[in-house]
Amino acid sequence: MRAEFFSGVDEHGCVDGVSLASLADAFGTPLYVYRAAAMRAALHAYHAHGLERQVALYYAVKANSNLVLLRLFAEAGTGFDIVSGGELERVLRAGGAPSSVVFSGVAKSDAEIACALAVDIGCFNVESPAELRRLAELAASAGVVAPVALRVNPDVDAGTHPYISTGLRGNKFGVAIADAPALYREALQLPSLKVVGVGCHIGSQIRAIAPFLAAMDSLLPLVDALLAEGAPLEHLDMGGGLGIATEDAPEVPSAADLSRALLSRLGDRPLRLCLQPGRSLVGNAGLLLSRVVFTKAQSERRFLMLDAAMNDYIRPALYQVRPTMLNVSRPYDGAGRMDVVGPVCETGDTFARDFPMSGERGDLVAICGTGAYGFSMASSYNSRPRPAEVLIEDGKARLIRHRESLEDLWAQEVL
Ligand SMILES: *Cc1c(COP(=O)(O)O)cnc(C)c1O
Repeated sequence: MRAEFFSGVDEHGCVDGVSLASLADAFGTPLYVYRAAAMRAALHAYHAHGLERQVALYYAVKANSNLVLLRLFAEAGTGFDIVSGGELERVLRAGGAPSSVVFSGVAKSDAEIACALAVDIGCFNVESPAELRRLAELAASAGVVAPVALRVNPDVDAGTHPYISTGLRGNKFGVAIADAPALYREALQLPSLKVVGVGCHIGSQIRAIAPFLAAMDSLLPLVDALLAEGAPLEHLDMGGGLGIATEDAPEVPSAADLSRALLSRLGDRPLRLCLQPGRSLVGNAGLLLSRVVFTKAQSERRFLMLDAAMNDYIRPALYQVRPTMLNVSRPYDGAGRMDVVGPVCETGDTFARDFPMSGERGDLVAICGTGAYGFSMASSYNSRPRPAEVLIEDGKARLIRHRESLEDLWAQEVL
């Protein structure tokens, strides 16, 4: 069993020396369990390429925005890629430096831009001519100069699920590569803007290096032309999107290979190479622990019904991903397959059909590789309080978010 895609669960049902059964007893289920050591290792992997130059990392906050994880990344020297004013506040609360923040997103509001200008973030990744002009106006009226990069759409196919493919001409992200030179010239003329970089982000759960290199090849002529014109570029940001190993698709390039390939292609251009990884830093460092509530056999199908559901982890329902799962309480007996489902009133609330797992009421099931886009996409649909979260560090588990209470569910409602 390959520990990486089982989120570190060993044959005794322990994670970094802590038993999952003890966590279920102490904190209840469903429960998100994260491993600090795995996150730090994933971070260091981006630098383990044997080259003298390093990539600058900006953790994509939306993958998992728990304050304790943000603090862990801030202490490790990582910057942050944010997509909302809420994420900016989280980063600041966690102790992240404003100068280490880059702000992406196609529809930043005036209020979000104003907050980001007020704390002097590192870079605005601008995604349209209208945004560029609005940012220039808001910076001018605040009497400040906004650092900007254009998020350029390199028109490459990341070869991933259509919902998480963002670098193609026809989707809503970024500025078309053909329009970028004129928009850069406009930005260079605006006194309230300082052009500092060129960026892109082509998609998520990408399983090859080739799309990243294709994107870079698409951007480098623009970069070279801008440098030749004397634009004060400081960085080239190749976005996030490196995938993680799963049981069904165990082969993904290593972070070190990705960094090495991109740094080599960048050559001796005088630019910092930035990446914005989310999933690859936290995905396989987390699991969702749940308990089997009932089993049943019906029209030749066998169901394993968990206390975790699509509101806790929506990716199988939304993107048809088949998670790696493990019955922590008993080994697979090899006899038949089961449909692993949750209690929510939707057929979409199915983690996997025909999954090789046996199980009985009371067993603990780990849904692995759920550290990214797990809790951050959770909702309280069906009036189910969102799960608690724990972090394992130095052989100890610590609660980093309380389980929501029922009162939390209606706290904002006006009766
Ligand atoms: C979502 C996102 C990322 C992170 O993507 P991962 O697949 O989690 O690495 C990085 N940059 C931007 C702009 C994003 O929207």
